[in-house]
Parts: sequence; C-alpha cells; structure tokens
Amino acid sequence: MASQSAPEESLKDALGRPLKDLRISVTDRCNFRCSYCMPLEKYEWIDRREILSFEEITRLAKLFVQLGVEDVRLTGGEPILRHGLEQLVVQLARLDGLKDLCLTTNASLLGQKAHALAQAGLKRINVSLDTINKEKFQQMTRRDDLADVLGGIFGAMRYGIKPVKLNSVIQRGVNDDDILELVEFSRQNGFWIRFIEYMDVGNSNNWVSDTMVSKKEILEKINERYPLQEIGRNDESAPAVNYSFLDGIGKVGVIASVTEPFCSGCTRGRLTADGKLVTCLFSDQGHDLKKLIRQGASDQDIIGAIRLAWSTRKDRYSEERLEALKSGEYRPDSRKKMEMISLGG
Ligand code: SAM
Ligand code: SF4
Ligand code: SF4
Repeated sequence: MASQSAPEESLKDALGRPLKDLRISVTDRCNFRCSYCMPLEKYEWIDRREILSFEEITRLAKLFVQLGVEDVRLTGGEPILRHGLEQLVVQLARLDGLKDLCLTTNASLLGQKAHALAQAGLKRINVSLDTINKEKFQQMTRRDDLADVLGGIFGAMRYGIKPVKLNSVIQRGVNDDDILELVEFSRQNGFWIRFIEYMDVGNSNNWVSDTMVSKKEILEKINERYPLQEIGRNDESAPAVNYSFLDGIGKVGVIASVTEPFCSGCTRGRLTADGKLVTCLFSDQGHDLKKLIRQGASDQDIIGAIRLAWSTRKDRYSEERLEALKSGEYRPDSRKKMEMISLGG
C-alpha cells in the first residue's frame, strides 16, 4: 500500500460512477447460519476447484487497482475459514496504489488468527455482531459462539487492528430491543458501531418490509437515551451516515440501504470466490474473470473485460426498490438474486 502506480484511463459506469471499492469473497462457506443471510443449513457450495487461488485473487486485485480501485475488503461467507488467509493479506498489502485493506468477519475464529492477520498487514476489521445476549445470539446465528466472537474482537484490538467496527443488522421483533445494549457495549469498549437496515439479499431470508427497522427508528431509539449529532458520510460513496454522541464518547453509523438508498454514489464492485465480477449486491449473475485467467488471458484482455462490465453498469436496485415499495408494488422474490454468501457483504 505504498506509492501510487499510474492508473489506467479513468473508468466510469453508464451512470458516471467510478470503480473505487472491491469486495472480494474468499469463500462461500460459513460456520454460522444467520437468519437474515444464510438461513438454510445446506447450500449448493462452489466446487473447490472453482475457487480462485491467492495468486489469482492477487493478480485480479492488482488489475482492479490499476483501474482505480483504492479500497479492498475481504469477505465471504466467513473469510477466516479460508485456510492461510493471512498469506493473501500479505500479498494484497503490498499492492502499489491500494489505500485500504479491510476484513469483514463474524469473528468466531478471529481469536486464533488476529495476531497472524495483524502481522500480515491487516489494518482494519469489521465484525458482524447483532446482539451480546447469549441466547439471542444462538437464536440468530444458530451457533453458540458468542464467547469466541467477543474474545476475537478484543484479541484484534490487543494486536493493534484499529478501528474495529461492529455491524449489526436489525430485525423487528428479533433484536430491535438490543440496540441500546449494543450502543453501550461499543461506547464502553471503544468500538464504532454501525446499524444496518435489514435487506432482501439472496433468495431465502423471506424478507418482508415490516421486519426492516428503518434508520429513522434506530436513530430515535438511540437519541432518546444518548443524544446524537450528525457528522455525515466519510465520503460521498460511503454507505454509512455517521453520528457522534453529544457527550463526546464514541460514534455510531447507520447504513440505510432500504429507506435512503445510496446507489447514485455506489462505487463498489464484488468478486465472487469463483472469480465472477458482480456489479450490484442484487445482481443475478456475474462476469466470469476466472474463465479468462484459466484460459491464459493477458492482463490487457482481463482489463478489457472489467472495463466492458463496468462501463455498461446501470445497477440501482435499492433506488428502484424504494420506488416500488412506495407504490406498494415491490415483490422481493420477483427476481432471482445471487446469494449474499457468494457475493460478500
Ligand atoms: N461472514 C462475515 C460477516 O458476517 O461479517 C462476512 C460476510 S457477511 C455476508 C457481510 C455482511 O453482510 C455482514 O455485515 C452482514 O451483517 C451483512 N448482511 C448479511 N445479510 C444481510 C441482510 N439481509 N441485510 C443486511 N445486511 C446483511
Ligand atoms: Fe455467515 Fe456472515 Fe452470512 Fe452470518 S452474515 S451467515 S456470519 S456470511
Ligand atoms: Fe450499489 Fe446495487 Fe446496492 Fe445500489 S443496490 S448501492 S447499485 S450494490
């Protein structure tokens, strides 16, 4: 992540949005079964032979950086399940022009890996944590791993991975009564928490709009107890709107993908574990870059394929969903989407 290499000619999609962020799913497997993401016990997993090797991921990441990507986030499925993940971090951390390298994890295995990941050059981590109540955690993830998750989060801090951000998806009637406890936990321990509106990702979470708790409701609940002041987004393409607490202790963010969609500033591409470039979280298919790599394509051929995919991108699913929700015409199952586990969050 040192000096800037000469970028390719600026790449923009059909709506004028640059490609600045890349989320790389390193595996579609996960050891949790979160009700909002991966509720089924079994999925049709990607064949292991189809999963990109670390060398293939690094080659692609380098080309994406040449095209303007500044931030890479490793995700999944559960990325720490990928054997030797720290070796990938070492390779990516060396890429010229990459400004930020982050990991999104459920943290259940982070305690065992935090030291190796920190040594490999990982600077930032986002952890999914929807409750700190043991029984509810088990109900939401169908695993009894809360103690390991908390151990992992504190372990990461000890090894100097900062900031550790917590992400909580809020579902009505499930964990909306945990919001204040999560805020308090974060303020006491120096975490930056972001609440995420529940979305209709994938095809199996049976999303209905009533179970989504809006940004407005989340903020009202927090503000009643801990008054807030809006700071805004980190930059115009950042999904979270941030707030500081008026007493000066900590910050909180809300990602309002459903009620305040941010498609117009969306600069995020996604690379699936089997090497498909996906231009929207709600896409039904991707552009197969692995096929090109394994057919022996040159870097310029691959860059050409990425350019073509991105320059023709017109995705604005969340904006369209809001329009349809307002007119009462939205049906989440009206189109088959790729699963969140293969796309990464
Ligand atoms: N397993 C890792 C984790 O949970 O952090 C990384 C992958 S997970 C798919 C990435 C992010 O997607 C998590 O922050 C998770 O909360 C979010 N996510 C999954 N399903 C969601 C949904 N239906 N609505 C909103 N966010 C969701
Ligand atoms: Fe696994 Fe993350 Fe999805 Fe939960 S949110 S099921 S931890 S991939
Ligand atoms: Fe980006 Fe698609 Fe999400 Fe809109 S719906 S913000 S285009 S990923």
